[in-house]
Amino acid sequence: MDVPSRSFSVRHWLILLAAACVLPVWIGALWSLDRAAVAKRQLIEENLLHSARILSRLLDGRLTAIRSALVALATSPSIESGDLEGFHRQARQLAGDFPEADIILADADGAELINSYYSFGSTLPRRSRPDLIGELFQTGKPILRSHFRGAGTGRSLIGVDVPVIRNGKVLFDLGASLPCLQLSADLERAGLPPSWIAAFIDGNGVIIGRNVDAGSAIGRPAMTAVGISEQVFESPTVTGTPTVVAVVPVAGTRWGVAVGVPKSDFDAETAWWRNRVLLGIGGLTLFGTAAALLIGIRIAKAIEALVEPAARIGRGEEIRIPGSPVAETERVATALSQASALLQKRRRDLEESVLRERLSRELAATDGLTGLANRRRFDEMLATEFMRHTRSGADLALLMMDVDHFKAFNDHYGHLAGDDCLRRIARVIEAVVARSGDFAARYGGEEFACILPATPLSGARDIAERIWRGVALLDIPHVLSDAPAHVTISLGVASGPCRVGASPLDLVALADRQLYLAKESGRNRIAVASFAGTGRAMES
Ligand code: GH3
Ligand code: MG
Ligand code: MG
Repeated sequence: MDVPSRSFSVRHWLILLAAACVLPVWIGALWSLDRAAVAKRQLIEENLLHSARILSRLLDGRLTAIRSALVALATSPSIESGDLEGFHRQARQLAGDFPEADIILADADGAELINSYYSFGSTLPRRSRPDLIGELFQTGKPILRSHFRGAGTGRSLIGVDVPVIRNGKVLFDLGASLPCLQLSADLERAGLPPSWIAAFIDGNGVIIGRNVDAGSAIGRPAMTAVGISEQVFESPTVTGTPTVVAVVPVAGTRWGVAVGVPKSDFDAETAWWRNRVLLGIGGLTLFGTAAALLIGIRIAKAIEALVEPAARIGRGEEIRIPGSPVAETERVATALSQASALLQKRRRDLEESVLRERLSRELAATDGLTGLANRRRFDEMLATEFMRHTRSGADLALLMMDVDHFKAFNDHYGHLAGDDCLRRIARVIEAVVARSGDFAARYGGEEFACILPATPLSGARDIAERIWRGVALLDIPHVLSDAPAHVTISLGVASGPCRVGASPLDLVALADRQLYLAKESGRNRIAVASFAGTGRAMES
């Protein structure tokens, strides 16, 4: 039976519980994911900065090595002696130490005196950037040449120039040019992770070396400017790839190194973690919910299994509850079983007490010796039947019987024999008065009475004769009797309609009167009278 209710089922409570347990896991996991992403990003940034520092030192090393070599070459005695051919040889030798590098000696006007790229005596181009040469001659300090194109070859180059000083005077500009592709090769060899992008950037913010797509990138302005301090920021590359970039300057210059990792890589790595964690806790949630649902169904079933037995207790039936997997329902089931057993016992007790009461009522209405109804019951019955016949108008018959000379019988045969005689007569009366509604009672002593509903006088006399004959047929010896030497009875019969105003006592009086008449006229006979006024005796 479904009871409409606004309460939640066990299943719902358990799913709520599972959700309550999983929710902190979700919060914790999302928080951890966020922390992990931040930590991961910091780690990548650290790695980027570290790599950029190393590459910065690599570029610095390259430039310093060339500058040192040029400074050494600038002291060559061939310059004082005007042995330019010798100097050209020395320059070529030095250039051999720096693959693809060219060494140029030029005067203050930018006119090249030797160029290791060309053989000695060739017609040489002029040096580009006369402003830089002017600066070098003015300051007497080495300069760095940002990205430029080789006058003869058109290659992307950078350069280092040092002054050739004699007696405190700058005589020449000794420069070395390095192809940017060479710097790119350095970056390629640096062993960076494949997706990382590293670039050398000159003082004008132009790319002078790149580990990937060097050909197209070199000479283009970098998207990230090089400052004077280390920085990490997000920026797209020249090819438009969004990256996280670390920029480190080369000491003492406005040049620098940028190392970037594509944001997609970074995101992919965090996404990998995020997806796995989300998948994990998603699975955990599903598992928890499913487990809660299954356990909920089991508990609900265990509880619902109590409903039918409880209803049966309500109907007063006996119940037997099978074992439950839930301890609490098991206890409730035990309590229900006990309640059922108690109710059953109460019911049995009640039935017994009803039976006992009925029995005692019957006993109270029964004559102990003969088992017939007693006098009290007879009076009740007669009053009831009299009233009923008053309404229906039918004839009510009453028989009164008395054992003849019974005192003498007792005296002669003993009291116990007398009792037995009374019992046997009672059985005869009982056997004759067997019609439904007919009623026999012990009226008192050795007297009996029968109430015969809706029985006219003729019928009542018939019954009386059958009883009289039945007693005679018992043939109980009675030597002190009158004529036959066995026990006989006398009967008084009255029958008629029970008129309003008449009383049951009138009927009793009339029947009793007939009995008296039977006795008077010699005993062992029947006297009858119609009940309606004066009685009329008739001998049998
Ligand atoms: P009558 O023919 O005029 O009826 O004479 P009777 O001797 O039968 O009448 P009486 O009234 O003088 O005696 C009745 C006797 O019935 C007296 C008593 O001892 C006996 N009696 C009454 N009740 C019982 C009983 O329950 N058991 C036995 N054994 N005798 C009983
Ligand atoms: Mg008597
Ligand atoms: Mg008698």
